[in-house]
Amino acid sequence: MEKMQQAKIRDLLKTKETGKECLVRGWVRTKRGNKNINFIALNDGSVIHSIQVVVEVAQFSEELLKQITTGACIEVKGTLVDSPASGQPVEIQAKEIIVFGTSDPETYPLQKKGHSLEFLREIAHLRPRTNTFGAILRIRHAMAFAIHKYFNDNGFYYLHAPIITGSDAEGAGALFRVSILDPKNPPLKPDGSVDFSEDFFGKETKLTVSGQLQAELGALALSLVYTFGPTFRAENSNTPRHLAEFWMIEPEMAFYDIVDNMDLAEDFLKYLIRYALENCMDDLEFLNKMYDIELIERLKFITENDFIRLGYTEAVDILKASGQQWEFPVDWGTDLQAEHERYLVEQHFHKPVILTDYPKEIKAFYMKMNEDNKTVRAMDVLFPKIGEIIGGSQREENLERLKNRIHELGIPEKDIWWYLDTRKFGTAPHSGFGLGFERLILFVTGMSNIRDVIPFPRTPKNAEF
Ligand code: ATP
Ligand code: MN
Repeated sequence: MEKMQQAKIRDLLKTKETGKECLVRGWVRTKRGNKNINFIALNDGSVIHSIQVVVEVAQFSEELLKQITTGACIEVKGTLVDSPASGQPVEIQAKEIIVFGTSDPETYPLQKKGHSLEFLREIAHLRPRTNTFGAILRIRHAMAFAIHKYFNDNGFYYLHAPIITGSDAEGAGALFRVSILDPKNPPLKPDGSVDFSEDFFGKETKLTVSGQLQAELGALALSLVYTFGPTFRAENSNTPRHLAEFWMIEPEMAFYDIVDNMDLAEDFLKYLIRYALENCMDDLEFLNKMYDIELIERLKFITENDFIRLGYTEAVDILKASGQQWEFPVDWGTDLQAEHERYLVEQHFHKPVILTDYPKEIKAFYMKMNEDNKTVRAMDVLFPKIGEIIGGSQREENLERLKNRIHELGIPEKDIWWYLDTRKFGTAPHSGFGLGFERLILFVTGMSNIRDVIPFPRTPKNAEF
């Protein structure tokens, strides 16, 4: 006999062709019923909805039916039929059931519904089996796919930046060390400091905080590139918007100025959100209902409205004139905090805001200086509920000005000689930005803690799973 193909529950729930035999495999969400008939809600992760399996108790052994409890993994062969129950188009009339894995109801942590997100973080190994995390993980996948699609369709090349880096010039945050030296007894130099020349790479190395510097090398050859990889920051910031390990998308474009850069960032974000609305509606509707009643409206609003573009100086004037009490006082020259960013977006403009021309002191060395010699061509995109979602800039392409800047900041030239070389040989105006992938997923899912939009979050004192 021909081997029957496993069907995805997603496809079965959409099909109009009832009356056919089918085979499904998945995890039991619930089982209910009476002594004649049982109803199993079976989910295989292909879609948020479970399919109903109808079991005539008399046709199966008591032994087998006892094993079918919440969390168990089973295979069902049966007939797909129109469902008499409301809210589901089809159901499966079971003919054969195999139990792959039982799940003890006494100890299975997801036996009951309605756990708090905090509790689910403690069982990150099992939370993908909940509706909430199924929805988030499918959306996360769709967004990763849409990012590659957007860039591919627009002539960008995917560049893989290294994860281990020998330069800590980027200055984007504290770094994690990468070393094979014996921490108890490392080789020492005569002055007592650790001798990294004996380490694996012959020098001190760290995990990258950003792929930008390498993306610039790529852009000055392939014109349009982007990176999409993990980045690491050892800052002890226990906030709902920071992870120690997060994924970043960093496009870098030769011949783009700051305005081209902003246009790209706005078009890119709108594309991604439109993609989610067009491809993830089942999951969005669930999250909208359970967590954030304004989610879908907010997503549509972003795709339909222009972002406000505003200089840092004007933004500071607005913040100072607002009469708000800030946790962090604001004045020209201070870095803006999430409370300020969110005020501008949520209370003042009621739209996403792109802020430009920040004071050079609070931005990185590679940003292009404006004529005023005080501000740089930085651009941060600020979103409702999130604050900064993108940070970017036009880059300083002039070798002398770039050297002056790194000397001012005390960065040794020998650490980034290869970066300076791009300004020496065929330099070009260029720009780029970094989008924090998890910040995007926070926004698209309406979740409020970044620990809930990555499968296995890495935060201070937390790397269990
Ligand atoms: P913030 O001011 O919010 O801490 P940043 O200015 O340090 O961010 P950048 O160095 O500009 O961030 O990084 C680019 C993007 O990466 C940010 O706009 C944000 O979306 C994301 N990002 C930065 N730090 C983190 C983090 N610790 N966890 C998750 N995403 C982050
Ligand atoms: Mn930033």
